[in-house]
Amino acid sequence: MMINEKMAALGKKRSVIREIFEYAKIRRAEIGAENVFDFSIGNPSVPTPKRVTETMERLIREKDPVALHGYTSAQGDLGVRQAIAEHIEGKFDFKADPNLIYMTCGAAASLTVSLNAIVNAGDEVIVLAPFFPEYRVFVEKAGARLIEVLCREGDFQIDFAALEKAITDKTKAIIVNSPNNPTGAVFSEETIIKLASLLNKKQTEYGRDIYIISDEPYRELVYEVSVPYIPKYYNNTLVCYSYSKSLSLPGERIGYIFVSPNAGNSGEVYAAVCGAGRSLGFVCAPSLLQYTVGECVDLLPDLTVYRKNRDLLSHSLTDYGYTVVPPDGAFYLFVKTPEEDAYAFCERAKKYELLLVPGDDFGCKGYVRICYCVETKQIERALPKFKALIEEYK
Ligand code: PLP
Repeated sequence: MMINEKMAALGKKRSVIREIFEYAKIRRAEIGAENVFDFSIGNPSVPTPKRVTETMERLIREKDPVALHGYTSAQGDLGVRQAIAEHIEGKFDFKADPNLIYMTCGAAASLTVSLNAIVNAGDEVIVLAPFFPEYRVFVEKAGARLIEVLCREGDFQIDFAALEKAITDKTKAIIVNSPNNPTGAVFSEETIIKLASLLNKKQTEYGRDIYIISDEPYRELVYEVSVPYIPKYYNNTLVCYSYSKSLSLPGERIGYIFVSPNAGNSGEVYAAVCGAGRSLGFVCAPSLLQYTVGECVDLLPDLTVYRKNRDLLSHSLTDYGYTVVPPDGAFYLFVKTPEEDAYAFCERAKKYELLLVPGDDFGCKGYVRICYCVETKQIERALPKFKALIEEYK
């Protein structure tokens, strides 16, 4: 059977996160849900805001069903794109054009479409480790080579000396994910200014465009700090936005790509986005969801539970002796493991039914990711187990 072996291999090998998520399901059936402490997957625990469900209900009741459920333009409904453009202008004081916005099925689609739009065979795409493991799959499928640059230990901001070394005459893009999965780190304005200046210098040096692909599913999930809007600092930017986490809609698959109007040849870049969407079959994102988010562009998530969980978990773990990366955003805590081998630590944690994800798959050894978009009582009940776990190392 002549099939694509690479695809078969990808399909057979689940991501480590999904592996643990599946293990959790089995364990729940065996010993009861209340005895399993699954901190593996970033499925928002806060329900979608009422206004979202009410908007959907109203659209179903009142909008002409043929129009509501029919195809929109390939790049998305114009009215929806206009609403998003106005929102970008109002929120970030940055000129946005609906004709540079492309509606997608979430950040995963935004990333694959953007990568396929700009990458040619042999190009290199830089990712800042630790990084969302699917980047490797997306980048390689687009025909580029993934180049990892580890962030600074401690605060997980960009290590500029390492980044500068990694940029070559083949670099086509760098994926920036702030707030970050898995560290929760947010790149400061100072970091983004430095990044823009380095990339501008390298573009001049090599005489070619280098794009920032800004992967922003966690933009709205920040606690004390603010998240700089990258198109304001760097021209060749494609924003990959998703409503999965901000509006707790991960299963509905809705997001968008915004090509900065200041990108060189922005019209051509947008045409390539439309072409990549077309060639990948990512045209006309789900229409009900498009119309819904179009009416909810200004809606912000209620962060009460996530903030409470973050504080409870990060303060308690620090008290017990764990080293925790300062969690400024998203809903993940990145914790240094008390032994070098994060897999061994995760196995030991399993004895307590604590299900954690080793950092290795994110390109960063010696850490685990703890996802705190769970019910607070799960954390409260897990805390003594985290304490007992680190006691084993004392
Ligand atoms: N990018 C990052 C950093 C993520 O953590 C995720 C999902 O967890 C995605 C992209 C994919 O998001 P979506 O559900 O919008 O496709």
